[in-house]
Amino acid sequence: MSTEGFNPFKMAQQQFDAVAKKLNLDQATCDLLRFPEREYQFNIPIRMDNGTYRVFRGFRVQHNDARGPAKGGIRFHPNETIDTVRALAMWMTWKTAVVDIPLGGGKGGVVCDPHELTLHEQEQICRGWVRQIVRNVGPLQDVPAPDVMTNSQHMIWMLDEYEKITGIKAPGFITGKPLGLGGSLGRTEATGYGVMYTVREALKHLGIDIKNTTASFQGFGNVSQYALDLYTQMGGTAIAVSTWDPKEKRAITFRKKTGISFQELIGITNKFGEIDKEKAKDLGYEILDGTAWIEQEVDILVPAALENQINKDTVQLIKPSVKIIAEGANGPTTPEADEVLKAKKIHVIPDFLCNAGGVTCSYFEQVQSNMNYYWTKEEVLQKLDQKMTSAYHSVLDLAIKKNEYMRDAAYMIAITRVADAVRLRGWV
Ligand code: GLU
Repeated sequence: MSTEGFNPFKMAQQQFDAVAKKLNLDQATCDLLRFPEREYQFNIPIRMDNGTYRVFRGFRVQHNDARGPAKGGIRFHPNETIDTVRALAMWMTWKTAVVDIPLGGGKGGVVCDPHELTLHEQEQICRGWVRQIVRNVGPLQDVPAPDVMTNSQHMIWMLDEYEKITGIKAPGFITGKPLGLGGSLGRTEATGYGVMYTVREALKHLGIDIKNTTASFQGFGNVSQYALDLYTQMGGTAIAVSTWDPKEKRAITFRKKTGISFQELIGITNKFGEIDKEKAKDLGYEILDGTAWIEQEVDILVPAALENQINKDTVQLIKPSVKIIAEGANGPTTPEADEVLKAKKIHVIPDFLCNAGGVTCSYFEQVQSNMNYYWTKEEVLQKLDQKMTSAYHSVLDLAIKKNEYMRDAAYMIAITRVADAVRLRGWV
């Protein structure tokens, strides 16, 4: 899903290289960790509803499975590329390591635009994806989950195809399943809530009362929706949200300076997280440019859309009022922008820590699926809060102790854990 001239895999490697150097990591470990262990690319031929055939390109990258089965979502996006999937798989390895769950890192994708596909066609893509990769994924090998433009319906189609082919019931093969079919309570909320658990801790660290804060969000998909919901429940005031306008094919920002009501906004949002512009105007929202979300005079920015959103150009638009950037998206900030944020002393909660709530709850879902015994929502969210809070504090403590930028401290913890695992296994 790379934008012009931007290569997310190069960025992920650049971030890794910088920290590997600080850690004095040996050459073989670096060589092992800066590339995926395995990757698969394949065709998915589909009979469309009008009787014609189309071939979609599918990917699965397993970056590292030293700490447990590879784990990570599957994205449906027209601009998906192998390098995007490689980067995201690598970030999954650091994500599962920083929250210390027994899983590795993987990611998958299909080049397609669900806006233009019927549900039946999407089902064929899901089933076709599983048929192509069935030998190389599974509860003990590699466990997919939802991501950009995929949801629990896609996951259950994939699980069903997997179970049909293997002839067994294997609910641990996939996470983000529907409730009642192996899904976990709290999984839908988990990523967004996890973002806000880390924001709550960051505000405590900075000595700021959440009730006196304002925030601006980029994106209004699964992550941003629940992050905004919990933020307002905790007493914060959300004033802006930017989303994709499918009609004009550009991003736009919705602003309400008196504070956005989650219930009101969700009522005019479609399943892709796109907000109805006309209805928003009627409800008193100002409609601004796509980049306006980053230019708001707020305390907290929550980029929760795609990668490469805070880059060397847009970083200049950030107002001095901003104290925290909570990265709900994967890879939203480029290394050039990081240098500016460091200089401005903004407290960045890095992506693979900030948005780890999703995969942490996926892990809980696997545990419940394997036991075939399901916890209450309170139990799930309480365990999630505990995991996220403790991971945040481990990173913060190291950042303070070594005077490191939060992203680098998170990388130091994650890379050390994975490097120890590959060494203990005798791989390098
Ligand atoms: N797609 C989510 C992520 O990027 C969740 C992955 C998972 O649950 O495995 O973290």
